[in-house]
Formats: sequence, structure tokens, C-alpha cells
Amino acid sequence: MKLEVTQALAHPGQEYRFSGTQAIADQEIGGDLVRLDECIVEGRFMADEEGNVSLKGQLRTIAHARCAKCLGEAQAPVENAFDETFLRGGDPEDDEIFAYDGQEISLDKLVMSYAVMALPIRFLCREDCPGLAYRDPDVAPAEPGIQYPFAGLRQLLENNEEV
Ligand SMILES: [Zn+2]
Repeated sequence: MKLEVTQALAHPGQEYRFSGTQAIADQEIGGDLVRLDECIVEGRFMADEEGNVSLKGQLRTIAHARCAKCLGEAQAPVENAFDETFLRGGDPEDDEIFAYDGQEISLDKLVMSYAVMALPIRFLCREDCPGLAYRDPDVAPAEPGIQYPFAGLRQLLENNEEV
């Protein structure tokens, strides 16, 4: 997903709206494959006098994976909010920052990072899924509910290249 910033650069301090969709590559999380629907992204952006562009907005999509208990199909809503600044002329190889050059900003890395960050660690087809009948009795039953261990751990995402 690309964001055209020519107007914003010509009018620093002026806020613009944007919206669009972004495909996200399948993710492998804890050995399980997680597939994501196309991500819906919307928000506002604004350039400063130096040409750095700040973006605020939200993304939402649906993630699909195997149910942790019965291995059937499960899905979970994924939502996250972002507030980042893209540095004009910054090093695009630097994983610590978001950077861009020219008149366009690629939102691929941002959207993927924030979507993956919001993935649940465990999917359940339904909250009271009885699981497999032949379940190993020595394995403690997992707690119901969704946990989000990836929040704030952007470090983990740094290996993900742009889609
Ligand atoms: Zn299940």
C-alpha cells in the first residue's frame, strides 16, 4: 500500500486522510501457519517542515489458523492502532525507524508489523471447544481466552521483510 505525500509535503501542518487495503503474507507463529485476510487501513497523516510524515490510524483484519484444541479451523479478529513518523531520507535498511524518500510512502512494513503484533498466540474455534477426544491426559488443559504476547515486541518482527 502506497501513500502519495506530494500535497502534504507542499502543505506542512495540514492533515490529510487516507484509507486502503494491504495484503499480508502468511505468518508462521509457534510452528503454526496463520493466514490473514486483506487488511483494512485508515487514518490521517501530516508532513512537518523537514518533510517527515507522521501517520496515525487503525488497521483491522481477520486471522485464520488451526484451533489450538481440536485443530479445526479457527479465526480471530485482529485490530491495532499505530502512530509513527516516517523520516524523509532515512535509511530504509534501519529496522529501528520508518523511512521514505521521494513522494510516496510504502505502508507495507508498518501494516505488517502492527498486524502481526496484534495476533493472538492461540486460536480457538470457539471458547468452549472440547478439544480432541483422545487428548493426552498429562497435558494440562489450556486456559480459555485470547492472549496477546506480541504487543510491544516489535523486535520479533524485524525479520519480516516487506510483502
Ligand atoms: Zn476447536
